[in-house]
Amino acid sequence: MHPFSYTKASDLEGALAAGRRGGRYIAGGTTLVDLMRESVERPGALVDISALPLGEITATAGGGLRIGALVSMAEAAADPKVRATFPVVSQALELSASAQLRNMATIGGNIMQRTRCAYFRDVTAPCNKREPGSGCAALEGFNRAHAILGGSDQCVATHPSDVAVAFAALEASVHLRGPDGEPSVAFADFLLRPGGTPDREHGLRPGELITAVELPALPRPLRSGYLKVRDRQSYEFALTSAAVALHIKGGVIREAKVAAGGVGTVPWKLSAVERHLIGERPSEALWAEAAERAADGARPLEHNRFKAELLKRTVERQLRIVGGSE
Ligand code: SF4
Repeated sequence: MHPFSYTKASDLEGALAAGRRGGRYIAGGTTLVDLMRESVERPGALVDISALPLGEITATAGGGLRIGALVSMAEAAADPKVRATFPVVSQALELSASAQLRNMATIGGNIMQRTRCAYFRDVTAPCNKREPGSGCAALEGFNRAHAILGGSDQCVATHPSDVAVAFAALEASVHLRGPDGEPSVAFADFLLRPGGTPDREHGLRPGELITAVELPALPRPLRSGYLKVRDRQSYEFALTSAAVALHIKGGVIREAKVAAGGVGTVPWKLSAVERHLIGERPSEALWAEAAERAADGARPLEHNRFKAELLKRTVERQLRIVGGSE
């Protein structure tokens, strides 16, 4: 491992100042330390933010929730408010990683985790995300796990987070702290598609820090849940996943929030599916018709053509589960 300095921030202002000087924030360290060991990441200075007061989950006016960036995945999954208000979030967290990792990893770090593309983690392979301009080994290589939505001719890596899919579905916002005060950014705008700059993965600027993720107040009753399809039942990333939340009143779907994981370069909001559901009465035919739109715009690669059909079936099944007919 290359040499680096380490400091532990005791307050927010100190952390922000260290960030402005080029320090990389670390909390649970479950991604960054691995990548440093493999020389994929080579930060010169680490700023440990684990002691900052960002570990609370609080209710917001109207029935939303604000989850501090340093809440661990395990704490968020077990929190009674999260479980009662947004089961889709607790389920996504419980289906992620391993119990040990969920105890260490934080909500902020989970959003910021880097792709599991094997070529990204192999420093002998060309990878535009790791080394801009070097090429993309996945485009002509083994791309079974890669994205069918949101890719570019520079990068087709999927975003690996599960809970970020739930955040995308629910239209969460990300609260920041930095030189411009305390802005909040729509989750949909926070994570960036690769385009021509796959090394730029998010909208954070140097010296900015995620302080919380806010889940908006949504009409009640709200049924929600997360379904993950993977090669094995534990400690594996999604081939496809679906986060669904439905507000059904008077037998009619009034609100539908749907997003997919494992298929996009960012958590993929399924707006066409949502539009098809709103104003309709739940039925087997409706779930199937809506899910048919899940892979709109997909551009499969040589080894991941199966994902488009698998995505439709994942979404249909989860609509049926959350909608109450399974
Ligand atoms: Fe790198 Fe992206 Fe290509 Fe993977 S898909 S090798 S992360 S550029």
